[in-house]
Amino acid sequence: MYDVIIIGAGPAGLTSALYALRANKKVLILEAKSYGGQIINASRIENYPGIEEITGFDFATTLYNQVKKLGAEIRYEKVIHIGEDKRVMTKERGYQTHAIIIATGVENRKLNIAHEEEFVGKGVSYCATCDGNFYKNKVVAVNGGGNTALEDAIYLSDIAKKIYVIHRRDEFRGDVRYVEELSKKSNVEFLLNATVTSLNGINKLESITVTGKDNQVRDIPVDGLFVAIGQEPNNEVFANIVDLDSYGYMVPIDGVHTKVEGIYVAGDARTKELRQLTTAVSDGSIAATTALKECF
Ligand code: NAP
Repeated sequence: MYDVIIIGAGPAGLTSALYALRANKKVLILEAKSYGGQIINASRIENYPGIEEITGFDFATTLYNQVKKLGAEIRYEKVIHIGEDKRVMTKERGYQTHAIIIATGVENRKLNIAHEEEFVGKGVSYCATCDGNFYKNKVVAVNGGGNTALEDAIYLSDIAKKIYVIHRRDEFRGDVRYVEELSKKSNVEFLLNATVTSLNGINKLESITVTGKDNQVRDIPVDGLFVAIGQEPNNEVFANIVDLDSYGYMVPIDGVHTKVEGIYVAGDARTKELRQLTTAVSDGSIAATTALKECF
C-alpha cells in the first residue's frame, strides 16, 4: 500500500514526488521507459529561472537523484489500467494507493512512413543528443521546424559533415536566434516547403526521398535522419478516469482533477496553453499539494 503513486518520471512526475516525499509520504513512481521525460533530450536549457544554462540530461538526473535521496521507489513498469478504487495495474503486477498523479507526458511524433520502425537505431533517431555521436563526419538530416529540430541541427553541426534541415513550411516555428545561428554555418542546408516521403536502404537507412510543395522529388543520400516533428500524448488507458480531447490530451477539471476523487493529472499530457519545463514542474507541485490536502 502506497500513499501516492505517480505515473511518469519526467519533470512533472518527479516534482510531484519531491513534494509528496517532503510531506513524509510513501511514494512509488512508475515509469514505462526511462526517467527524465522529453527534457532529457534537450541539449541545453536556458529558460529555467535561476539556472543560466544546463543540459536536459543534467537537469533530469539531478531531479531524479533528489527524489531518490528522499526515498522514492521507482519501478520501470508500464501502467495498463487504473481502477476507480485506485488500484494501478502494470504489465507485471497491481498496486494499491491513496492518491494517484498521472504525469505521463508525451511521446515523439512519428513520420508514419514505411521502414521508420525498422530503421530505428539503423539511421533513424528521435534524439540528437543521444545518438549524434554515431554520425561523426557523416551526412545527416533533421526533420522539423520547432526548437527541438533547430537545437538538434546546431548540436549536430559540430559533429556531422553535412546537415540538411527539412521543414514542411517556408518559416520555422522555433526561435529566430537558432535560425540565425544555423544560417551562419557552412555545413547546414535548409530544405523548406519539403516533406520526407520515403526512407530508403537495405537493412539500414541509405537515403531519404524529400518531396517539395511544388511536387519536386529529390533523393538525398544520408547516413542518419533525426526526426524532430513534435510530440503527442498516449493517454488512452486513462480514458475511464479522465476525459481526453480530440488529440488525446487529458482534460482535467480545474487544471488538476480527474473524474475520480484522489486521481490527479500533471504536465505535458494534459490540455494546457504552454508546454514547457517551467509549467511541467508547476503542474507537478500543484497536483502533489492538492493530493496531500484532499487525500490525507
Ligand atoms: P513543435 O514546436 O511542436 O514543432 C514541431 C515541428 O514539426 C513543427 O515545425 C511542425 O511543423 C513540424 N511537424 C509536425 N508534424 C509534422 C509532420 N507530420 N511532418 C513534418 N513536420 C511536422 O515541437 P518541438 O520542436 O519538439 O518543441 C516542443 C516544445 O518544446 C515547444 O514549445 C518548444 O519551444 C519547446 N522546446 C524548447 C526548447 C528550449 O527552450 N531550449 C528546446 C526544445 C523544445 P509546423 O511548424 O508546420 O507546424
